[in-house]
Amino acid sequence: MVMDEGVIKYNCHWVKGEPVASYSITDLMKKRDFMYSLGLIGVYENGIGFGNVSQRINDSNQFIITGTQTTHLETLGPEFYTVVTDFNIEENSLTCCGPVKASSESLTHAAIYYYQPEIMGIIHIHNSQLWQELMYKVPTSNQEVPYGTPQMAKEIFRLFDEEKLGVEKILVMAGHEDGIISFGKDLDEAANILLNLSKKQEARSKKQEARSKKQEARSKKQEARSKKQEARSKKQEARSKKQEARSKKQEVRSKKQEVRSKK
Ligand SMILES: [Zn+2]
Repeated sequence: MVMDEGVIKYNCHWVKGEPVASYSITDLMKKRDFMYSLGLIGVYENGIGFGNVSQRINDSNQFIITGTQTTHLETLGPEFYTVVTDFNIEENSLTCCGPVKASSESLTHAAIYYYQPEIMGIIHIHNSQLWQELMYKVPTSNQEVPYGTPQMAKEIFRLFDEEKLGVEKILVMAGHEDGIISFGKDLDEAANILLNLSKKQEARSKKQEARSKKQEARSKKQEARSKKQEARSKKQEARSKKQEARSKKQEVRSKKQEVRSKK
């Protein structure tokens, strides 16, 4: 498994510029910080960051996305967002303009905006349980395809064409551990798809836990019964031995009695 999150793989032409006006990305900032609060965007113990969000600018192919190396921050102000002004999937290149370089996964976002004009918001999160649970149940990219590459962009086109990605609006990246992308006509739709699946998964886990506890309780009862049974058997055995001893004594006494009588 390739764990190279946070590494920019496209040719990044970064034009350093002013932050976008905060009013135009209020919702984007809210969604990003909310995902962070849920642990769906953040940093692994090894220091590698994960997750990003973006929003299309009107009906253009330009979009605003979180900057690279920002996933450790609890809240992101406009100074951590940048505008992707141009991209070329074939050439694996991207131009961004803002205070920071665009997220390493920007080319994947670009592919989705490019292919589906009605998509306005994209969320990329990492979650181990959800990733395992959803793999091959929702559109899933080929395990051989790493994130943030032109191959991933083409793989996403394939999922739109062959696997109803346009309807399900969620995909698991099999070759990018824990990686899931959702999107929608706005960021609310993208977030709700994730949250609903996450809730379902949580409910399933709880049920499973309850079942395990019941099973455990049953096992304990069974164990207690077995112990009682064992104790009873031991008592019975002790009684039998005493009885046997008494019988032997009785026998000896009888024999002695017999000998005395013969005399
Ligand atoms: Zn990722």
